[in-house]
Amino acid sequence: MLFVGDGDVGLRAIIAVHSTALGPSLGGVRFWQYHDDEAALRDALRLSEAMTLKAAMAGLHQGGGKAVVLWDDPDRPRPPELLHALGRAIDGLGGRYLAAEDLGATTADMDGLAEVTPWVTGVSESLGGSGDPSPVTAFGVLCSMRAALHAQFGNPTVRGRRVMVQGAGHVGSHLARLLAEEGAEVLVADRDPARAERVATETGATVVAADGALTAFCDVLAPCALGGVLTEQAAPLLRCRVVVGAANNQLADRAADVAIARRGILVVPDFVAGAGGIVNIAQEFTGYDRDRAYAETARIEDTTARVLEWARHDGVTPTDAALAMARRRIEDEGADEDGVARRWRSGDPAAWTNGRPLTHLRG
Ligand code: NAD
Repeated sequence: MLFVGDGDVGLRAIIAVHSTALGPSLGGVRFWQYHDDEAALRDALRLSEAMTLKAAMAGLHQGGGKAVVLWDDPDRPRPPELLHALGRAIDGLGGRYLAAEDLGATTADMDGLAEVTPWVTGVSESLGGSGDPSPVTAFGVLCSMRAALHAQFGNPTVRGRRVMVQGAGHVGSHLARLLAEEGAEVLVADRDPARAERVATETGATVVAADGALTAFCDVLAPCALGGVLTEQAAPLLRCRVVVGAANNQLADRAADVAIARRGILVVPDFVAGAGGIVNIAQEFTGYDRDRAYAETARIEDTTARVLEWARHDGVTPTDAALAMARRRIEDEGADEDGVARRWRSGDPAAWTNGRPLTHLRG
């Protein structure tokens, strides 16, 4: 855990490295307005753990990390000096943490960080990066949704299904577009009504008030806004059969997971469904290729199916099944210290670091 402060440029940030057992920790930089420092710390810790699980489930040789920047207005652009100060802090971790985009962050932010450190992903395609990951994340959610529909209804097609997309931001808008193209009936909500309207105009979706999204009558609820929306209190109010979306940490706690499962609603773990973004980024380490990124992301459908089958077979929730699968992989592969160190040094297949030596990275 690294606390970063630079009064001259107004930077206050926390960088959390949750695990490097499978490789360098990768996770987004979040620019967000937090009530207090403790809320930011909690967010960094929870999100970095979620990234560890996500990378493990996506079969990547990466760990989990996260950076949160306490920022009064996520829409207010970051001055270059602030990005440089944050970039220097990331650089000081020597590759244990690889930055990426997250809530509030933009490709321009990644470009700014990249001016002072190589340990950053998601820079502009013109600079050799993979650009905005959200279209690939949305595609991954769609793939995951197919597996969940198959498990719940015996048919993977989204055509004719009613899908409520909560959050019409980067991922939500792309997801709405993909769903509309596939013939789903799309509902969309955003706390910023103009965003929801924009997506509706573009895709033919129906706008739902932001406070009605969770309880909308639909086949699939796709949370693509903030985490913590699935609470024990919300469980009896849900009117969907499947929950699958990109937002990180959708379940407030285990009680919520159990209460929702008891109602026969299938909740796909977000660290399975939302992995498209990091699968996309991982392609940067071997030379970015968008077609390969999509092909690798499509595997989320199989992974989701395996998770749901394990859950059904063992009579546990999908989240419990996925946690067991992720932890098993981390224990099995992460326990092989020599193997991990060798892989880090080998530069192949995942030369994560754009040619920088890897020997000093394992912490
Ligand atoms: P974004 O900031 O572009 O979009 C989020 C949207 O949600 C915004 O339009 C915001 O107004 C809206 N929103 C916030 N609170 C809301 C509420 N209570 N009700 C309705 N709408 C609300 O973010 P994004 O990049 O689209 O990411 C969405 C979620 O998916 C986040 O939780 C993020 O961590 C997660 N995620 C994103 C990616 C990615 O590739 N961008 C990858 C994996 C996970």
